[in-house]
Amino acid sequence: MTTANTTGTATLTDGVRAEATIDLAALRGNLAALRERTGASALMAVVKADAYGHGAVRCAREAVAAGVNWLGTATPEEALALRAAGIGPEQARVLCWLWTPGGPWQQVLRAGIDVSVSALWALAELVRAVRETGVPGRVHLKADTGLGRNGCQPRDWPELVAAALRAQAEGLIEVVGLWSHFAAADEPGHPSIQAQLDGFAAALGYAEQAGVRPEVRHLANSPATLLLPQSHYDLCRTGLAMYGLSPVPEVGAPADFGLRPVMSLTARLALVKTVPGGHGVSYGHHYVTPGETTLGLVPVGYADGIPRHASGSGPVQVAGKWRTIAGRVAMDQFVVDLGGDTPEVGEPVLLFGPGGNGEPTAEDWGRACGTLSYEIVTRIGARVPRRYVGGSGA
Ligand SMILES: *Cc1c(COP(=O)(O)O)cnc(C)c1O
Repeated sequence: MTTANTTGTATLTDGVRAEATIDLAALRGNLAALRERTGASALMAVVKADAYGHGAVRCAREAVAAGVNWLGTATPEEALALRAAGIGPEQARVLCWLWTPGGPWQQVLRAGIDVSVSALWALAELVRAVRETGVPGRVHLKADTGLGRNGCQPRDWPELVAAALRAQAEGLIEVVGLWSHFAAADEPGHPSIQAQLDGFAAALGYAEQAGVRPEVRHLANSPATLLLPQSHYDLCRTGLAMYGLSPVPEVGAPADFGLRPVMSLTARLALVKTVPGGHGVSYGHHYVTPGETTLGLVPVGYADGIPRHASGSGPVQVAGKWRTIAGRVAMDQFVVDLGGDTPEVGEPVLLFGPGGNGEPTAEDWGRACGTLSYEIVTRIGARVPRRYVGGSGA
């Protein structure tokens, strides 16, 4: 597919091979749009997985400067990295929720990080670390209301709540949160949604009856924040929407929710050459030139997070025109058929951007690869430098 359109907007720092541009002004705008939606509920900026590839510390700092005072990570190591970067407990609560036995409980306690507990083993490890450090723990008890992933099953909930309340009575922990996570909030009308809302209300009701007085009850992820106001409770945990991508592309594009994509990915043409018709392109020769044409070499590959599933389907914009990846994506590079055009070597190739100038978006890439925009941005690798623009100076 080759679609002509308006001039591209790709820019690239002099001399770099490839670059992910992170628009912090867009991030702030997205946070403002989300806050308008969440009203009295607080916002948690979810910055796990290096802020979905956008850079955890930079994005967390920007969110905190914009008044967000909850940060969320999956692993305790990710949470510790935020504290190590100087984001203190007085600036933001940090919650981490993915623990394995032997995790860094003591460091997390000393760093003033909130922890999620889904099971008795985790509570026992936490309590031991509290006794060792003398620092009480701040705990969010997680209920499995139907996702079937992390969280405590309803049949085990009374036992977990009772054990947590015993530790609280001893002054070892404080149960500050009750929470859960949706399975299909991105599929409006999915029967699991109401079942989980009901299950969450039941888990809250039980814990509160038993004597838990949580600071925050939280259930909503990005799709629920956008579509299910009844799930907002005290805190909405937004990841994808904060990065300006739509978690529900069938319902609306980012702009329909007042969001703007934060990451753009650009690479520089490394070679432009004319080849004869019938010439195989890239490993396995899955593309063969239909006639004499020009090929452009784009110096990013699966080591940079370009999915190999984008072979033969991933879209890029070169000199204002859409091109599709010709043949296989290799570890470090792929090729596009430029159809006889001869852009300069060094010309920027826009892989994805906000979409406002006709360029492909991360959503387009997700569709081309049979995955989600979540995976496209999150996988952009460490070999691709990030360039931050629009920062507030935070
Ligand atoms: C990743 C994650 C989120 C954020 O999800 P988005 O759909 O990106 O907003 C919220 N809560 C939990 C438990 C998560 O793992």
